[in-house]
Amino acid sequence: MDCPNDHGPMRLKNVMRELLFRGKRLKFRAKHYVCPVCGIEADDLGLAAANQKTLSDEYRAAVGLLTGAEIIEGRKKLAWTQEDLSRAANVGIASVKRWETGQIQTKAMDDILRRALSGEAKCADPYTGNRALSLARIKLVLERFSGLLGRKLLKSPRDKMLYAAKYLWYADMLAFREAGQSMTGATYAALPHGPQLNNYSELVDLIKEADEDLAEPLKEYEVRIMTRIARTFASGQSVYRAAHNEEAYKSKKNGELIPYSDAERIKAV
Ligand SMILES: [Zn+2]
Repeated sequence: MDCPNDHGPMRLKNVMRELLFRGKRLKFRAKHYVCPVCGIEADDLGLAAANQKTLSDEYRAAVGLLTGAEIIEGRKKLAWTQEDLSRAANVGIASVKRWETGQIQTKAMDDILRRALSGEAKCADPYTGNRALSLARIKLVLERFSGLLGRKLLKSPRDKMLYAAKYLWYADMLAFREAGQSMTGATYAALPHGPQLNNYSELVDLIKEADEDLAEPLKEYEVRIMTRIARTFASGQSVYRAAHNEEAYKSKKNGELIPYSDAERIKAV
């Protein structure tokens, strides 16, 4: 690489950097091209990516998250491919790739990765989002959505949850994408009228009768996610249309279950 001030070729140098990153003061060794005449620094794309990765690993080590190198090492110890890890942790393979190359995982995802790499996560169910199905929580989430939308989502007596299930699906998928755990533990199937609670016809009445006071209270981030969904989809038609356009739904055959690993393909919210 040549100096932009016309001093000829620049030299690759290690530079110690100290900076404030996500509230942490970090010291790390960056690599830059440096002009021996004017001292200007520059990166090419490869260097910029490598420096970003070094910073990310430095940060993750400082706050007690697995670094990219540790994830790779843990996986290699088990002789796992990235796909093996994605299956054991019940996350998309794209996430595994991003974490290994420098994207910072959330604390919740870090716990899930550690469990998977320690072999504790034996039978991760790809269809419940790391939570046992709770009808009371489904009721609680739907009631909260009704409040946010200013209209009742569960209509008696013969509601098929045509729209309610779409709100639920987005809430579960986005919670999983963000925190590694669904809100309700519900399993979804791709039906002609969109993503729907699996076996919904048997569940609807049970959900209506469920006591939402028995459900685990909603966490702050869950309410935040629901608020975002309610703002994005004010009408039942809009959530219905958006759900139909999601690859996570479109890529499935009729009746096929939609795994939570598809959460990272959600586009509309
Ligand atoms: Zn120069």
